[in-house]
Amino acid sequence: MKLTVLGATGSIGVSTLDVVARHPDRFEVVALTGHSQVDVLAAQCRKFHPAYAVMGGAVDAQRLALLLKDAGVRTEVLHGAEALVQVAGLPEVDAVMAAIVGAAGLPPTLAAARAGKRVLLANKEALVMAGAVFMAEARRAGALLLPIDSEHNAVFQSMPHNYAGDMAHGGVRRILLTASGGPFRTTPLDVLAAVTPEQAVAHPNWSMGRKISVDSATMMNKGLEVIEAHWLFNAPADRIEVVIHPQSVIHSLVDYEDGSVLAQLGNPDMRTPIAHALAWPERIDSGVAALDLFAVARLDFERPDPKRFPCLDLGYRALRAAGNAAAVLNAANEVAVAAFLERRLSFLGIADLIAATLDAVPHAAVPDLAAVLEADRQGRAAALDLLDRSGARSA
Ligand code: NAD
Ligand code: MG
Repeated sequence: MKLTVLGATGSIGVSTLDVVARHPDRFEVVALTGHSQVDVLAAQCRKFHPAYAVMGGAVDAQRLALLLKDAGVRTEVLHGAEALVQVAGLPEVDAVMAAIVGAAGLPPTLAAARAGKRVLLANKEALVMAGAVFMAEARRAGALLLPIDSEHNAVFQSMPHNYAGDMAHGGVRRILLTASGGPFRTTPLDVLAAVTPEQAVAHPNWSMGRKISVDSATMMNKGLEVIEAHWLFNAPADRIEVVIHPQSVIHSLVDYEDGSVLAQLGNPDMRTPIAHALAWPERIDSGVAALDLFAVARLDFERPDPKRFPCLDLGYRALRAAGNAAAVLNAANEVAVAAFLERRLSFLGIADLIAATLDAVPHAAVPDLAAVLEADRQGRAAALDLLDRSGARSA
């Protein structure tokens, strides 16, 4: 199978290449992309010899090209957003790992769907922003969408065989998404106002990029995942429930009409869903150790507290509002998380800024990619404006 890995230098990208390297007979890397980490991408090119490598800017691309020339690696170096779209749709590519973080991943991920590729979807923001457009294009082109997000991968594995988007027909009552609760699950509420970016990105169970780590701390990650589940499985908001499960061993569950509940379990290591999607419907070694239930010993469950995690409700609110709301929510969250990481916004200010942005941007339909990108632009502009006017400063 020939692969493009979008976001190869990130946490998911590196885990993907770790799995790929275990199966040189099965996978061939055609293209790798990284935004600014020239040295990481250079090392990956030396190891996997892709035909193409894509950097964000021209200067970094030139540096990469020189490094590769010196190393005798014949990879063509491209740069910019158009090049991402190009390598996502190459005719010789079978599967595209979509692992760019945030809205920047939408155009190339959509291009992979339009080209009818097997799309390994880690970039949840793309589906949150453009769910209706994305699913329609994927269906039209016959693209196979396989979720990499651990929860959705678990749901995929627990759904009826050949599930085609009809919960009633499949006898499915509810989708239960598990959440770890992040680093602040038990932090006293009055301390939350003053938590730092360093504390927020220190996740108890998972090692991930900075943006998704903050999203996990606010539980906006789960809000985005509720929307992601809606689109992937054609599930209405009131059939998707969130359960806090601090051990992160059950990755999600499907509740059936007959009372059966099926779940997927495993160690919290993204190489499991990555290997699952790469090899589906076969199973391959991922490098992840066998689950030791005696070491896990117990599995706990809690109801999420809406006062502690207002971002989860904002996700449901945007899903129910439909139209441009989810794209606006995502844009506001990206602005808020960046401001928090730059110490311009307090931790609790993240949810406030997103709620105010949803209030500020008028409702609109999003029939096509242009409308989605316009909703993204409006959401960012409104959030930045609110941020400036609040004179937000570090907590
Ligand atoms: P990361 O920050 O570690 O990596 C992001 C990648 O995107 C890097 O390769 C970076 O170079 C690239 N990138 C960043 N900005 C870009 C831009 N403007 N244009 C082009 N490329 C850009 O992030 P990650 O943790 O690997 O997450 C990637 C995606 O996977 C996110 O959408 C995240 O929500 C999702 N995801 C991650 C995990 C996880 O365990 N890390 C789990 C589930 C879902
Ligand atoms: Mg997840």
